[in-house]
Amino acid sequence: MDKLQDILNEITATLATREERGKPADYIPPLAHVSPQHFGIAVALNEGGLFTAGEADLPFSIQSISKVFTLTLALGMYGDALWRRVGREPSGSAFNSIVLLEQEKGIPRNPFINPGALVVADALLAHARAPRETIGEILRFLRFVSDDETISADPLVARAEKATGFRNAALANYLHSWGNLMNPPDHVLGVYFHHCAVTMSCAQLARAGGFLANAGRNPVTGRSVISSVRARRINALMMTCGHYDGSGDFAYRVGIPGKSGVGGGILAIVPGVASVAVWSPGLNANGNSLLGSEALEMLSHRMGWSVF
Ligand code: GLU
Repeated sequence: MDKLQDILNEITATLATREERGKPADYIPPLAHVSPQHFGIAVALNEGGLFTAGEADLPFSIQSISKVFTLTLALGMYGDALWRRVGREPSGSAFNSIVLLEQEKGIPRNPFINPGALVVADALLAHARAPRETIGEILRFLRFVSDDETISADPLVARAEKATGFRNAALANYLHSWGNLMNPPDHVLGVYFHHCAVTMSCAQLARAGGFLANAGRNPVTGRSVISSVRARRINALMMTCGHYDGSGDFAYRVGIPGKSGVGGGILAIVPGVASVAVWSPGLNANGNSLLGSEALEMLSHRMGWSVF
């Protein structure tokens, strides 16, 4: 796999010269101070081997990428019953938009936009009963799938999100008014902000996504996480809904399932082949990593990884 390493090195060198790097999210204060110069990429192959380039070991705030893992956990607890509370359609609107919730009577379009993720957090909370236990359960799951006990949430980021998250608070209260939250909005928000505040490196994230690339089984440890059917379905949701209003463009350009976060990370899955994580903090107009998307476009093109 010298070819893969060469390609990663070339992509990293090419993007290092880019002047237009997008703008880091500034509505969460600790994220606003992260330099847009950072770039890292990691590829975990199903057949074994982790290939990296750039700052692949530097931890960053995974933000909405965590929604892939909370959804996986909630589906494990509730199965298809979860879909009574949240849909599976792309939203065509911003990650934190409240508009569709009014039209669709409190049922969020999908689990990856903020209201959908709040419903998923509520479902996890209803299962574990207390916010602290729920956060612990999410962290244990992330440690299990990545086979890494060091993964944790950054309390400063979680606190900053709580202090500035008026729109998320509005969404949670609005969901509650429609009867689609079982727990107090404050508790649900606490769980949500903490899972968004999880810190991981590209290397850790690529390993954590391995089960989605490998039909539900961690390719390194061999441990079964979910069924192959469920892995396929989560990948389908990542493809159609993983980049908010930029999901169509990402499918068109990159051609593999992916989930972005406003910290500038993207987890992308090449079914049957590899799990890929990339990080560059500058975002495009849709709130997705500008250079991260470009890196994945180059990688998928050079490796022939598009599923289409
Ligand atoms: N914690 C962020 C928020 O709720 C997540 C958004 C994202 O990563 O897209 O605003």
